[in-house]
Amino acid sequence: DPVLRLSGITKAYNHGKPNEVTVLRGIDLEVGRGEVVALVAPSGAGKSTLLHIAGLLDTPDTGTVAIGGTDMTGKRDTARTAVRRRDVGFIYQFHHLLPEFTAVENIMLPQLANGVTRTAAKARAQTLLGQVGVAHRGAHRPAELSGGEQQRVAFCRALANAPKLLLADEPTGNLDPGTSETVFAALMELVRSTGLSALIATHNLELAARMDRQIRLDQGALTG
Ligand code: ADP
Ligand code: ADP
Repeated sequence: DPVLRLSGITKAYNHGKPNEVTVLRGIDLEVGRGEVVALVAPSGAGKSTLLHIAGLLDTPDTGTVAIGGTDMTGKRDTARTAVRRRDVGFIYQFHHLLPEFTAVENIMLPQLANGVTRTAAKARAQTLLGQVGVAHRGAHRPAELSGGEQQRVAFCRALANAPKLLLADEPTGNLDPGTSETVFAALMELVRSTGLSALIATHNLELAARMDRQIRLDQGALTG
C-alpha cells in the first residue's frame, strides 16, 4: 500500500451559500514508501486544504483518504486523531514552537503525549537536533534561535514520533534565499535518512526539482 492515497477528493466551503467556493475537484494522489513529492501550487489553489485533508485535520466532502492502507473514511474523531498523532508529521511556514519551552522540550512534548518516557524522549530529541546540525541549541528557547534554527527544531518536532508521512506547507517559505537553501538541504537529509514519505508544498521550483516527483495543483485539480 502507498503511505498516502487520496481518491476522488472534493471539497467546497460555505455549502449552499452565495459565497460557496469549490476548492478541490476530484483529487487522486498516491505517495509511495520513501517517496518525496513536491506539491507546486499558486496561492489560493487549494494547497492548504489538500494538506489538511491528507493529514486528517479536515474531512473531504467526497472521496477517501487512506494512510498506510487504512481507509479513514467515516472514522470517528478519536480514531482519526490517534492515526494523525502516530503516523503524520506536520511542518508549516512558521515554526509554531511553544515559546516557554526549550528546543529539546518542544521535541519531547509530542513523544510524552504518546507515552514515551522522559529519558527516551530527551535522548531522541538530542539525536534529531544533531541530525539537523543544531545539537548545541537544545537548551535554547525559540526566541533565542535564528529563523533557520527555529525551522530545524520544528522539523525535529514533526519527526519526533517517527511518523510514516510528512506533510509540509512551504517549510522554508519564511526564510531568506540563502538560509532557505541550507535549511531545505537539512530537511531532505533528515527525510532521506529516515526513509520517510513526504508531500512538500513549495512555490520554489528549484527546490521542487530536487524531489522525486512534482505535481501541480491548479484551480482545485492536479495536472502533470
Ligand atoms: P492555498 O493554500 O493554495 O492558498 P487554501 O486551501 O488555503 O489555498 O484555500 C483555497 C480557497 O478556499 C481560497 O479561495 C480560500 O479563500 C478558500 N478557503 C479556504 N479555507 C476556507 C474556509 N474555511 N472557508 C471559506 N473559504 C475558504
Ligand atoms: P540569522 O543570521 O539566521 O538571522 P541571528 O543573527 O538571529 O541569525 O542569530 C545568529 C546566531 O545567534 C544564531 O545561532 C542564534 O541561535 C544566536 N542567537 C540569536 N539570538 C539569540 C539570543 N537571544 N540568545 C542566544 N542566542 C541567540
